[in-house]
Amino acid sequence: MTELDALLRPDLRGRTPYGAPQLDVAVRLNTNENPHPPSPELVAELSAAVGEAARAMNRYPDRDAVSLRADLAAYLTASTGQPLEVEQVWAANGSNEVLQQLLMAFGGPGRTALGFDPTYSMHRLITESTGTTWAPMPRLPGFRLEPEQAALVVREHAPDVVFLCSPNNPTGTALDLDVVEAVYGATSGLVVVDEAYAEFSTRPSAVALLPGRPRLVVTRTMSKAFAFAAARLGYLAADPAVVQALQLVRLPYHLSVLTQAAARAALARADELLASVAAVVEQRDRLLREIPAMGLEVVESDANFVLFGEFGDQAATWQGLLDRGVLVRDVGLPGWLRVTAGTEAETSAFLDALREGLSTTETSEEVDA
Ligand SMILES: *Cc1c(COP(=O)(O)O)cnc(C)c1O
Repeated sequence: MTELDALLRPDLRGRTPYGAPQLDVAVRLNTNENPHPPSPELVAELSAAVGEAARAMNRYPDRDAVSLRADLAAYLTASTGQPLEVEQVWAANGSNEVLQQLLMAFGGPGRTALGFDPTYSMHRLITESTGTTWAPMPRLPGFRLEPEQAALVVREHAPDVVFLCSPNNPTGTALDLDVVEAVYGATSGLVVVDEAYAEFSTRPSAVALLPGRPRLVVTRTMSKAFAFAAARLGYLAADPAVVQALQLVRLPYHLSVLTQAAARAALARADELLASVAAVVEQRDRLLREIPAMGLEVVESDANFVLFGEFGDQAATWQGLLDRGVLVRDVGLPGWLRVTAGTEAETSAFLDALREGLSTTETSEEVDA
């Protein structure tokens, strides 16, 4: 052990950080970004808004980001049909920061957060980095969750925090609201529904369940459907008391004046930004059709990505695709890989590379035999 290792918190020693490869490859379909960049008009409006905000750069930004939260509340109200007030919405630098604040306030040493594997890797990483114990639970075949089964597991383990993810990353599977209701009824802890991919799904949002459920939290992000990953803006909707509690752990002035201005400018053009969702969904549906036509399996997806397999050695397939200039994600789930729906051209490049890779594998097996 080095001197520094000895100083590091014992529970962090030997851990590996989040590390989706950021490689300089022609076709990058590994982090579920929206492949459509902002229009020149939006770029101009973002520049103007950010430029205006820069005039007040000598002052700290609005610590409570009230105008931005009001815009987010209006967007959620319009898109879910559930009226939301600014007091019910909180924003931070990406929904990962929102999740971290939730765990800082409601988790911590001696407490447990439960999630259903495979799920978003950051749920475990944030849980553990806040000293909270991670309790991973299995899913049903097809990576599904059913109300009775999920409720049973949650009741048995009595966690302080439950993570649900709908649509779930990396499987793409979405939850019916009866699962959320059943889980909520089975715990006295906080129930966090991560809806990072909600805009790609036609299912109702858990935001509809907020009335009368003070321990329910729904997290969202502008990183995926909004095509705004580089700006870093995530948010949540919950009871005002949850938002109040987060004030105890958030850093003062955590959201820069530039972020707030850019996010507000983007939200003013939400319809335009979200117009790309239909094109992305079209490519996702194409992946769901064309991958099985190659004799592979896919998991039904409500998100902007598809889990596909099964491979004897998914790492070898991953490398084969990379050698052909296509970066997908090996989420560490034996036999499976995840691919993001790209533009039509990117999706074609992926499908061609996969087809080619499969035929080479067959040939080499024949040679081996
Ligand atoms: C991508 C993703 C996020 C988004 O993280 P940001 O910090 O908002 O970029 C959150 N949850 C899940 C499940 C995701 O896949």
